[in-house]
Amino acid sequence: MSTPLVVMKFGGSSVANAERIKRVARRIARERSNGSQLVVVVSAMGDTTDELLALAAAITDDPDARELDVLLATGEHQSATLVSMALHALGVPAISLTGPQAGITTDGRHGKARIAGIDPRRVHAEIATGKVVIVAGFQGMSLKALGMEETPTASDVHAAEITTLGRGGSDTTAVALAAGLGADRCQIFTDVKGIYTCDPRIVTDARQLPVIGYEEMMELANQGAQVMQVRAVELGWVNDVVIEVLSSFEDAPGTLIKEDPLVEQRNKVRGLAHDRNVAKITLVEVPDKPGVARGVFGPLAEAGINVDMVVQNVGHGGATDISFTIPRVELAKAKRLLEPLIRDLGFRDMTTDSSVAKVSIVGAGIQNAPGYAARMFGTLADEGINIEMISTSEIRITTIIAEDRVEDAVRALHAAFALEQPETVDTAAG
Ligand code: ADP
Ligand code: ASP
Ligand code: MG
Repeated sequence: MSTPLVVMKFGGSSVANAERIKRVARRIARERSNGSQLVVVVSAMGDTTDELLALAAAITDDPDARELDVLLATGEHQSATLVSMALHALGVPAISLTGPQAGITTDGRHGKARIAGIDPRRVHAEIATGKVVIVAGFQGMSLKALGMEETPTASDVHAAEITTLGRGGSDTTAVALAAGLGADRCQIFTDVKGIYTCDPRIVTDARQLPVIGYEEMMELANQGAQVMQVRAVELGWVNDVVIEVLSSFEDAPGTLIKEDPLVEQRNKVRGLAHDRNVAKITLVEVPDKPGVARGVFGPLAEAGINVDMVVQNVGHGGATDISFTIPRVELAKAKRLLEPLIRDLGFRDMTTDSSVAKVSIVGAGIQNAPGYAARMFGTLADEGINIEMISTSEIRITTIIAEDRVEDAVRALHAAFALEQPETVDTAAG
Protein backbone atom coordinates (compact mmCIF):
# COMPACT_ATOMS: atom_id res chain seq x y z
CA MET A 1 0.00 0.00 0.00
CA SER A 2 1.33 3.45 -0.82
CA THR A 3 2.00 5.93 1.99
CA PRO A 4 -1.14 7.95 2.80
CA LEU A 5 -0.98 11.70 2.26
CA VAL A 6 -2.75 13.69 4.95
CA VAL A 7 -3.50 17.44 5.00
CA MET A 8 -3.76 18.77 8.57
CA LYS A 9 -4.92 22.37 9.19
CA PHE A 10 -4.46 24.15 12.51
CA GLY A 11 -6.48 27.30 13.23
CA GLY A 12 -5.40 30.46 15.03
CA SER A 13 -6.21 29.35 18.57
CA SER A 14 -4.31 26.08 18.03
CA VAL A 15 -1.09 27.99 17.29
CA ALA A 16 -1.77 31.01 19.54
CA ASN A 17 1.53 30.91 21.47
CA ALA A 18 4.87 29.08 21.66
CA GLU A 19 3.51 26.36 23.98
CA ARG A 20 0.63 25.60 21.63
CA ILE A 21 2.92 25.60 18.61
CA LYS A 22 5.09 23.01 20.34
CA ARG A 23 2.01 20.96 21.13
CA VAL A 24 0.90 21.12 17.49
CA ALA A 25 4.40 20.00 16.47
CA ARG A 26 4.15 16.99 18.78
CA ARG A 27 0.78 16.10 17.25
CA ILE A 28 2.27 16.35 13.75
CA ALA A 29 5.28 14.23 14.78
CA ARG A 30 2.92 11.58 16.17
CA GLU A 31 0.93 11.46 12.93
CA ARG A 32 4.15 11.20 10.95
CA SER A 33 5.37 8.31 13.07
CA ASN A 34 2.20 6.48 11.96
CA GLY A 35 3.71 6.51 8.49
CA SER A 36 1.82 9.35 6.80
CA GLN A 37 3.17 11.97 4.46
CA LEU A 38 2.02 15.32 5.77
CA VAL A 39 1.10 18.73 4.44
CA VAL A 40 0.23 21.07 7.29
CA VAL A 41 -1.70 24.33 6.78
CA VAL A 42 -1.59 26.95 9.51
CA SER A 43 -3.53 30.10 10.35
CA ALA A 44 -1.95 33.16 11.93
CA MET A 45 -1.28 32.96 15.67
CA GLY A 46 -4.31 33.83 17.84
CA ASP A 47 -5.71 37.26 16.99
CA THR A 48 -2.81 38.28 14.74
CA THR A 49 -5.02 38.97 11.70
CA ASP A 50 -7.30 41.24 13.77
CA GLU A 51 -4.24 43.01 15.19
CA LEU A 52 -2.78 43.59 11.73
CA LEU A 53 -6.14 44.94 10.52
CA ALA A 54 -6.26 47.27 13.54
CA LEU A 55 -2.72 48.47 12.81
CA ALA A 56 -3.67 49.32 9.23
CA ALA A 57 -6.83 51.06 10.46
CA ALA A 58 -4.70 53.16 12.83
CA ILE A 59 -2.73 54.41 9.82
CA THR A 60 -5.63 55.09 7.45
CA ASP A 61 -9.36 54.44 7.25
CA ASP A 62 -9.01 53.33 3.64
CA PRO A 63 -5.96 51.06 3.38
CA ASP A 64 -4.83 50.08 -0.09
CA ALA A 65 -6.14 46.57 -0.79
CA ARG A 66 -2.88 45.34 -2.31
CA GLU A 67 -0.74 46.55 0.59
CA LEU A 68 -3.25 45.19 3.11
CA ASP A 69 -3.01 41.71 1.60
CA VAL A 70 0.80 41.75 1.81
CA LEU A 71 0.49 42.81 5.44
CA LEU A 72 -2.14 40.20 6.37
CA ALA A 73 -0.23 37.37 4.69
CA THR A 74 2.66 37.92 7.10
CA GLY A 75 0.53 36.57 9.97
CA GLU A 76 0.53 33.12 8.41
CA HIS A 77 4.23 33.41 7.48
CA GLN A 78 5.04 33.76 11.18
CA SER A 79 3.11 30.70 12.30
CA ALA A 80 4.31 28.52 9.41
CA THR A 81 7.97 29.20 10.12
CA LEU A 82 7.52 28.67 13.87
CA VAL A 83 5.74 25.32 13.40
CA SER A 84 8.55 24.27 11.07
CA MET A 85 11.18 25.24 13.68
CA ALA A 86 9.24 23.37 16.38
CA LEU A 87 9.35 20.25 14.21
CA HIS A 88 13.09 20.68 13.63
CA ALA A 89 13.51 20.84 17.41
CA LEU A 90 11.80 17.43 17.61
CA GLY A 91 14.13 16.05 14.94
CA VAL A 92 11.43 16.02 12.25
CA PRO A 93 12.51 17.33 8.83
CA ALA A 94 10.16 20.14 7.79
CA ILE A 95 9.98 23.18 5.55
CA SER A 96 7.60 26.14 5.56
CA LEU A 97 6.24 27.53 2.29
CA THR A 98 4.24 30.70 1.63
CA GLY A 99 1.01 30.26 -0.35
CA PRO A 100 2.72 31.36 -3.60
CA GLN A 101 5.64 29.00 -2.97
CA ALA A 102 3.11 26.20 -2.51
CA GLY A 103 1.85 26.97 -6.03
CA ILE A 104 -1.51 28.45 -5.02
CA THR A 105 -2.84 30.83 -7.67
CA THR A 106 -5.94 32.97 -7.25
CA ASP A 107 -7.99 35.56 -9.05
CA GLY A 108 -7.05 39.17 -8.46
CA ARG A 109 -9.67 40.18 -5.87
CA HIS A 110 -7.63 41.38 -2.94
CA GLY A 111 -9.10 40.44 0.43
CA LYS A 112 -11.52 37.90 -1.02
CA ALA A 113 -9.58 36.07 -3.70
CA ARG A 114 -10.75 32.71 -4.98
CA ILE A 115 -8.27 29.93 -5.62
CA ALA A 116 -7.85 29.47 -9.38
CA GLY A 117 -5.42 26.57 -9.39
CA ILE A 118 -2.71 24.69 -7.57
CA ASP A 119 0.64 23.75 -9.07
CA PRO A 120 1.62 20.90 -6.75
CA ARG A 121 5.18 20.41 -8.00
CA ARG A 122 7.08 22.14 -5.20
CA VAL A 123 5.00 20.55 -2.45
CA HIS A 124 5.36 17.08 -3.99
CA ALA A 125 9.11 17.61 -4.40
CA GLU A 126 9.51 18.55 -0.74
CA ILE A 127 7.38 15.61 0.41
CA ALA A 128 9.52 13.32 -1.74
CA THR A 129 12.60 14.34 0.25
CA GLY A 130 10.83 13.18 3.42
CA LYS A 131 9.90 16.58 4.77
CA VAL A 132 6.70 17.69 6.44
CA VAL A 133 5.54 20.67 4.38
CA ILE A 134 4.04 23.56 6.35
CA VAL A 135 1.98 25.88 4.14
CA ALA A 136 0.98 29.40 5.23
CA GLY A 137 -2.82 29.40 4.94
CA PHE A 138 -5.20 32.13 3.71
CA GLN A 139 -3.07 33.33 0.78
CA GLY A 140 -2.07 32.84 -2.80
CA MET A 141 -0.76 34.81 -5.74
CA SER A 142 -2.39 36.48 -8.68
CA LEU A 143 -1.00 37.72 -11.96
CA LYS A 144 -4.26 39.44 -12.81
CA ALA A 145 -3.11 42.86 -11.65
CA LEU A 146 -0.54 42.89 -14.43
CA GLY A 147 -2.97 41.49 -16.98
CA MET A 148 -0.97 38.28 -17.21
CA GLU A 149 -2.07 34.66 -17.35
CA GLU A 150 -3.77 33.19 -14.27
CA THR A 151 -1.34 30.29 -14.14
CA PRO A 152 2.15 31.67 -13.72
CA THR A 153 5.25 29.92 -14.92
CA ALA A 154 8.34 29.88 -12.74
CA SER A 155 9.75 32.91 -14.52
CA ASP A 156 6.52 34.88 -13.94
CA VAL A 157 6.47 34.51 -10.20
CA HIS A 158 8.39 37.74 -9.56
CA ALA A 159 5.44 39.56 -11.14
CA ALA A 160 2.81 37.96 -8.92
CA GLU A 161 0.75 39.85 -6.38
CA ILE A 162 -0.02 38.36 -2.97
CA THR A 163 -3.73 37.87 -2.35
CA THR A 164 -5.69 36.69 0.69
CA LEU A 165 -8.73 34.45 0.64
CA GLY A 166 -11.12 36.20 3.05
CA ARG A 167 -11.55 35.66 6.79
CA GLY A 168 -11.23 32.04 7.77
CA GLY A 169 -9.49 31.34 4.45
CA SER A 170 -6.95 28.86 5.80
CA ASP A 171 -9.74 26.27 5.76
CA THR A 172 -9.96 26.83 2.02
CA THR A 173 -6.19 26.51 1.59
CA ALA A 174 -6.38 23.13 3.32
CA VAL A 175 -9.27 21.74 1.27
CA ALA A 176 -7.85 23.08 -2.00
CA LEU A 177 -4.48 21.48 -1.26
CA ALA A 178 -6.16 18.20 -0.31
CA ALA A 179 -7.96 18.26 -3.68
CA GLY A 180 -4.93 19.46 -5.69
CA LEU A 181 -2.50 16.98 -4.13
CA GLY A 182 -4.96 14.07 -4.17
CA ALA A 183 -4.64 13.67 -0.39
CA ASP A 184 -6.17 10.68 1.36
CA ARG A 185 -7.46 12.75 4.30
CA CYS A 186 -8.19 16.40 5.07
CA GLN A 187 -8.29 17.26 8.77
CA ILE A 188 -9.29 20.66 10.16
CA PHE A 189 -8.08 20.98 13.77
CA THR A 190 -9.81 23.70 15.76
CA ASP A 191 -10.81 24.72 19.29
CA VAL A 192 -14.04 22.69 19.41
CA LYS A 193 -14.53 18.94 18.92
CA GLY A 194 -16.37 19.25 15.63
CA ILE A 195 -19.52 20.68 14.10
CA TYR A 196 -22.30 21.24 16.63
CA THR A 197 -26.02 21.93 16.31
CA CYS A 198 -25.11 25.58 16.95
CA ASP A 199 -22.18 27.60 18.28
CA PRO A 200 -21.30 25.67 21.46
CA ARG A 201 -20.09 28.93 23.02
CA ILE A 202 -23.70 30.13 23.15
CA VAL A 203 -25.70 27.00 23.95
CA THR A 204 -24.05 24.72 26.48
CA ASP A 205 -26.09 21.68 25.48
CA ALA A 206 -25.36 22.07 21.78
CA ARG A 207 -24.84 18.56 20.39
CA GLN A 208 -21.93 17.48 18.24
CA LEU A 209 -22.94 16.00 14.88
CA PRO A 210 -21.00 12.89 13.78
CA VAL A 211 -21.72 13.63 10.10
CA ILE A 212 -23.07 16.58 8.16
CA GLY A 213 -23.71 16.79 4.42
CA TYR A 214 -21.95 19.40 2.28
CA GLU A 215 -25.14 21.27 1.49
CA GLU A 216 -26.26 21.66 5.09
CA MET A 217 -22.74 22.66 6.14
CA MET A 218 -22.56 25.23 3.37
CA GLU A 219 -25.80 26.81 4.51
CA LEU A 220 -24.64 26.88 8.14
CA ALA A 221 -21.29 28.40 7.15
CA ASN A 222 -22.97 30.90 4.85
CA GLN A 223 -25.25 31.99 7.66
CA GLY A 224 -22.44 32.64 10.10
CA ALA A 225 -21.15 29.36 11.58
CA GLN A 226 -17.54 30.47 11.43
CA VAL A 227 -16.17 27.00 12.19
CA MET A 228 -15.66 26.40 8.43
CA GLN A 229 -15.19 28.94 5.66
CA VAL A 230 -18.01 28.58 3.10
CA ARG A 231 -15.66 28.34 0.17
CA ALA A 232 -13.78 25.46 1.82
CA VAL A 233 -17.00 23.44 2.08
CA GLU A 234 -17.87 24.30 -1.51
CA LEU A 235 -14.45 23.12 -2.74
CA GLY A 236 -14.81 19.95 -0.68
CA TRP A 237 -18.19 19.30 -2.27
CA VAL A 238 -17.05 19.94 -5.83
CA ASN A 239 -13.90 17.83 -5.44
CA ASP A 240 -15.41 15.14 -3.24
CA VAL A 241 -12.98 15.78 -0.38
CA VAL A 242 -14.20 14.34 2.93
CA ILE A 243 -13.43 17.02 5.53
CA GLU A 244 -12.83 15.97 9.11
CA VAL A 245 -13.28 18.71 11.75
CA LEU A 246 -11.74 17.88 15.11
CA SER A 247 -10.17 19.27 18.26
CA SER A 248 -6.51 20.14 18.38
CA PHE A 249 -6.66 20.07 22.18
CA GLU A 250 -8.02 16.61 22.86
CA ASP A 251 -8.15 13.22 21.18
CA ALA A 252 -11.83 12.82 20.43
CA PRO A 253 -13.90 11.81 17.43
CA GLY A 254 -14.64 14.79 15.20
CA THR A 255 -17.31 15.52 12.60
CA LEU A 256 -17.19 14.35 8.99
CA ILE A 257 -18.39 16.75 6.32
CA LYS A 258 -19.24 14.57 3.34
CA GLU A 259 -22.01 13.41 1.08
CA ASP A 260 -24.66 12.35 3.58
CA PRO A 261 -26.61 9.34 2.28
CA LEU A 262 -29.21 9.72 5.04
CA VAL A 263 -29.88 13.39 4.35
CA GLU A 264 -33.40 12.79 3.04
CA GLN A 265 -34.33 10.73 6.06
CA ARG A 266 -33.13 13.25 8.63
CA ASN A 267 -36.54 14.79 8.91
CA LYS A 268 -35.41 17.52 11.21
CA VAL A 269 -33.71 20.85 11.68
CA ARG A 270 -30.03 19.97 11.94
CA GLY A 271 -28.52 23.19 13.13
CA LEU A 272 -28.76 26.89 13.84
CA ALA A 273 -26.40 29.63 12.78
CA HIS A 274 -26.19 33.27 13.72
CA ASP A 275 -24.25 36.14 12.23
CA ARG A 276 -23.56 39.56 13.69
CA ASN A 277 -21.65 40.81 10.65
CA VAL A 278 -24.85 42.25 9.20
CA ALA A 279 -26.11 45.75 8.46
CA LYS A 280 -29.50 46.70 7.09
CA ILE A 281 -29.99 49.51 4.59
CA THR A 282 -33.41 50.91 3.77
CA LEU A 283 -33.99 53.15 0.77
CA VAL A 284 -37.11 55.20 1.43
CA GLU A 285 -39.65 56.07 -1.26
CA VAL A 286 -37.76 54.76 -4.22
CA PRO A 287 -39.52 55.52 -7.55
CA ASP A 288 -41.48 52.40 -8.53
CA LYS A 289 -40.23 52.00 -12.10
CA PRO A 290 -37.99 49.68 -14.15
CA GLY A 291 -34.23 50.04 -13.80
CA VAL A 292 -34.15 51.38 -10.26
CA ALA A 293 -33.08 48.10 -8.65
CA ARG A 294 -30.28 47.83 -11.19
CA GLY A 295 -29.28 51.41 -10.42
CA VAL A 296 -28.93 50.52 -6.74
CA PHE A 297 -27.50 46.99 -6.83
CA GLY A 298 -25.29 47.39 -9.91
CA PRO A 299 -22.79 49.75 -8.22
CA LEU A 300 -22.75 47.60 -5.07
CA ALA A 301 -21.95 44.50 -7.12
CA GLU A 302 -19.21 46.32 -9.03
CA ALA A 303 -17.65 47.32 -5.71
CA GLY A 304 -17.69 43.65 -4.64
CA ILE A 305 -20.27 44.20 -1.89
CA ASN A 306 -22.37 41.10 -1.34
CA VAL A 307 -26.05 41.92 -0.97
CA ASP A 308 -27.77 39.20 1.02
CA MET A 309 -31.49 39.60 1.81
CA VAL A 310 -33.62 42.00 -0.22
CA VAL A 311 -37.18 43.03 0.61
CA GLN A 312 -39.15 45.38 -1.61
CA ASN A 313 -42.49 46.53 -0.26
CA VAL A 314 -45.66 46.90 -2.29
CA GLY A 315 -45.52 50.32 -3.95
CA HIS A 316 -47.87 53.14 -2.94
CA GLY A 317 -48.28 56.32 -4.96
CA GLY A 318 -45.50 55.47 -7.38
CA ALA A 319 -42.88 54.87 -4.72
CA THR A 320 -41.69 51.89 -2.70
CA ASP A 321 -39.23 51.14 0.12
CA ILE A 322 -36.37 48.69 -0.50
CA SER A 323 -34.51 47.10 2.43
CA PHE A 324 -31.49 44.87 2.10
CA THR A 325 -28.63 43.51 4.14
CA ILE A 326 -24.89 43.55 3.52
CA PRO A 327 -21.86 42.55 5.61
CA ARG A 328 -21.49 45.16 8.38
CA VAL A 329 -17.81 45.63 7.57
CA GLU A 330 -18.86 47.00 4.16
CA LEU A 331 -21.42 49.52 5.45
CA ALA A 332 -19.22 52.61 5.23
CA LYS A 333 -18.24 51.77 1.66
CA ALA A 334 -21.87 51.06 0.68
CA LYS A 335 -23.02 54.37 2.13
CA ARG A 336 -20.37 56.23 0.17
CA LEU A 337 -21.63 54.55 -3.02
CA LEU A 338 -25.33 55.01 -2.33
CA GLU A 339 -25.44 58.58 -1.08
CA PRO A 340 -25.10 60.19 -4.53
CA LEU A 341 -27.86 57.89 -5.79
CA ILE A 342 -30.45 59.53 -3.53
CA ARG A 343 -30.47 62.42 -5.96
CA ASP A 344 -29.61 60.49 -9.14
CA LEU A 345 -32.33 57.84 -8.72
CA GLY A 346 -34.76 60.17 -6.93
CA PHE A 347 -35.51 58.37 -3.67
CA ARG A 348 -36.34 60.31 -0.52
CA ASP A 349 -33.89 59.01 2.05
CA MET A 350 -31.59 56.21 3.14
CA THR A 351 -31.48 54.76 6.65
CA THR A 352 -28.97 52.23 7.97
CA ASP A 353 -28.99 49.94 10.98
CA SER A 354 -25.87 48.11 12.12
CA SER A 355 -27.39 46.67 15.30
CA VAL A 356 -29.13 43.76 13.59
CA ALA A 357 -28.14 40.10 13.31
CA LYS A 358 -29.20 37.03 11.38
CA VAL A 359 -30.50 33.82 12.93
CA SER A 360 -31.12 30.81 10.70
CA ILE A 361 -32.40 27.27 11.04
CA VAL A 362 -30.93 24.76 8.58
CA GLY A 363 -31.86 21.21 7.70
CA ALA A 364 -32.74 19.15 4.67
CA GLY A 365 -35.84 18.07 6.62
CA ILE A 366 -37.29 21.56 6.20
CA GLN A 367 -38.21 20.84 2.60
CA ASN A 368 -40.08 17.64 3.48
CA ALA A 369 -42.47 18.85 6.13
CA PRO A 370 -44.49 21.99 6.77
CA GLY A 371 -44.58 23.82 10.05
CA TYR A 372 -40.94 24.76 10.53
CA ALA A 373 -41.46 28.42 9.71
CA ALA A 374 -44.49 28.66 12.00
CA ARG A 375 -42.57 27.08 14.85
CA MET A 376 -39.57 29.36 14.31
CA PHE A 377 -41.62 32.55 14.16
CA GLY A 378 -43.80 31.44 17.09
CA THR A 379 -40.74 30.75 19.24
CA LEU A 380 -39.31 34.19 18.50
CA ALA A 381 -42.71 35.79 19.24
CA ASP A 382 -42.92 34.00 22.60
CA GLU A 383 -39.52 35.51 23.44
CA GLY A 384 -40.77 38.97 22.48
CA ILE A 385 -38.25 39.13 19.61
CA ASN A 386 -39.34 41.17 16.60
CA ILE A 387 -38.60 39.76 13.14
CA GLU A 388 -37.46 42.52 10.77
CA MET A 389 -36.83 40.48 7.62
CA ILE A 390 -37.25 36.87 6.51
CA SER A 391 -35.63 34.86 3.73
CA THR A 392 -35.70 31.18 2.89
CA SER A 393 -33.98 28.59 0.76
CA GLU A 394 -35.14 24.99 0.30
CA ILE A 395 -33.31 23.89 3.40
CA ARG A 396 -33.07 27.12 5.45
CA ILE A 397 -35.16 29.84 7.08
CA THR A 398 -33.38 33.06 8.06
CA THR A 399 -34.65 35.98 10.14
CA ILE A 400 -33.17 39.39 10.82
CA ILE A 401 -33.63 40.49 14.44
CA ALA A 402 -32.08 42.99 16.85
CA GLU A 403 -28.47 42.09 17.60
CA ASP A 404 -28.92 42.33 21.36
CA ARG A 405 -31.48 39.49 21.26
CA VAL A 406 -29.45 37.11 19.13
CA GLU A 407 -28.26 34.83 21.93
CA ASP A 408 -31.79 34.64 23.41
CA ALA A 409 -33.08 33.68 19.97
CA VAL A 410 -30.46 30.97 19.43
CA ARG A 411 -31.11 29.42 22.87
CA ALA A 412 -34.89 29.50 22.46
CA LEU A 413 -34.78 27.99 18.96
CA HIS A 414 -32.31 25.30 20.02
CA ALA A 415 -34.77 24.25 22.73
CA ALA A 416 -37.85 24.61 20.52
CA PHE A 417 -36.44 22.25 17.90
CA ALA A 418 -35.04 19.90 20.59
CA LEU A 419 -31.63 19.98 18.97
CA GLU A 420 -29.96 18.67 22.10
CA GLN A 421 -31.78 15.34 21.63
CA PRO A 422 -30.04 12.63 19.62
CA GLU A 423 -31.63 12.59 16.17
CA THR A 424 -33.70 9.77 14.83
CA VAL A 425 -33.52 8.73 11.22
CA ASP A 426 -36.93 8.38 9.61
CA THR A 427 -36.58 5.23 7.55
CA ALA A 428 -40.02 5.74 6.00
CA ALA A 429 -39.05 9.10 4.46
CA GLY A 430 -36.87 9.99 1.50
P1 ADP B 1 -10.00 28.34 13.89
O1 ADP B 1 -9.19 29.43 14.49
O2 ADP B 1 -9.56 26.98 14.32
O3 ADP B 1 -10.16 28.46 12.40
P2 ADP B 1 -12.64 29.46 14.27
O4 ADP B 1 -12.72 30.42 15.42
O5 ADP B 1 -12.58 30.01 12.90
O6 ADP B 1 -11.45 28.46 14.56
O7 ADP B 1 -13.88 28.45 14.33
C1 ADP B 1 -14.15 27.72 15.52
C2 ADP B 1 -15.27 28.39 16.29
O8 ADP B 1 -16.47 28.35 15.52
C3 ADP B 1 -15.65 27.70 17.57
O9 ADP B 1 -14.84 28.12 18.65
C4 ADP B 1 -17.11 28.05 17.76
O10 ADP B 1 -17.30 29.07 18.70
C5 ADP B 1 -17.54 28.58 16.39
N1 ADP B 1 -18.74 27.93 15.88
C6 ADP B 1 -19.81 28.58 15.36
N2 ADP B 1 -20.77 27.73 15.00
C7 ADP B 1 -20.32 26.49 15.26
C8 ADP B 1 -20.86 25.17 15.10
N3 ADP B 1 -22.08 24.97 14.55
N4 ADP B 1 -20.11 24.11 15.48
C9 ADP B 1 -18.88 24.31 16.01
N5 ADP B 1 -18.32 25.52 16.20
C10 ADP B 1 -19.01 26.61 15.84
N1 ASP C 1 -5.86 34.32 9.78
C1 ASP C 1 -7.00 34.44 8.90
C2 ASP C 1 -8.20 34.96 9.68
O1 ASP C 1 -8.09 35.24 10.86
C3 ASP C 1 -7.32 33.17 8.18
C4 ASP C 1 -7.75 32.02 9.05
O2 ASP C 1 -7.58 32.06 10.27
O3 ASP C 1 -8.23 31.02 8.51
O4 ASP C 1 -9.24 35.12 9.12
MG1 MG D 1 -11.46 29.58 11.17
